[in-house]
Parts: sequence; C-alpha cells; structure tokens
Amino acid sequence: MAYVITEPCVDVKDKSCVNVCPVDCIYEDGDDDRMLYINPDECIDCGACEPECPVAAIFAEEEVPDKWKSFTSINTIYFNDKNKARDEINKMYPEKREVE
Ligand code: SF4
Ligand code: SF4
Repeated sequence: MAYVITEPCVDVKDKSCVNVCPVDCIYEDGDDDRMLYINPDECIDCGACEPECPVAAIFAEEEVPDKWKSFTSINTIYFNDKNKARDEINKMYPEKREVE
C-alpha cells in the first residue's frame, strides 16, 4: 500500500506535501512534470502528506476515488518510465487544467 497523488495536483504542484514527507518519497523532475508522484516502494504510509495538500489530491491507495484510479498505476509507472507517465497525463489532459 502507498499513498497516491491524483488529478487535482495536475498543473498545480503546490508542493506543500514535499515538505512534510519524512522519507522524501514525493518527486518531480522540474517543468517536465505536470504533477508530483509518490514512490510506492518508498512511501511508509504515514499519512502526513494527505492533509497538507490544499487541493486534496492525495489519498491512501484504497481510498482513491474510482474516477482517479488510473493515477495509482501512473504513480508507479513514473518510477520505471517517467516519459510514459508524462504521456499518460498529457493524454488525459491535453490542455492545461484550469485551476481556481
Ligand atoms: S500538495 Fe497537493 S497539489 Fe501540491 S504537490 Fe503535493 S499533491 Fe500536488
Ligand atoms: S504517506 Fe507519508 S511517506 Fe507516504 S508520501 Fe505521504 S508523507 Fe510520504
């Protein structure tokens, strides 16, 4: 099990979560990434990041809403093939998301 970052992070990347993760397992690689990703092999399920996210993008894996289930695998894919994960995001969101 791990925590998962989902749609609301896309084109937001506020990064509040990064500061509270005790094992530094939340990643991005600069402007190439439109969201951040949690490494499922490193996440210790502490839950510290979830309440920090201002747009409620982070969920425990078993609580990811059905409409965002694909993000569970995208977070995993990122750590094997960054470009593949980026392609998935670009396919799902061809336009920059309008963020309030
Ligand atoms: S705090 Fe939320 S919006 Fe900000 S980077 Fe983390 S998951 Fe993304
Ligand atoms: S649940 Fe804990 S270990 Fe996992 S990403 Fe969030 S802060 Fe980091």
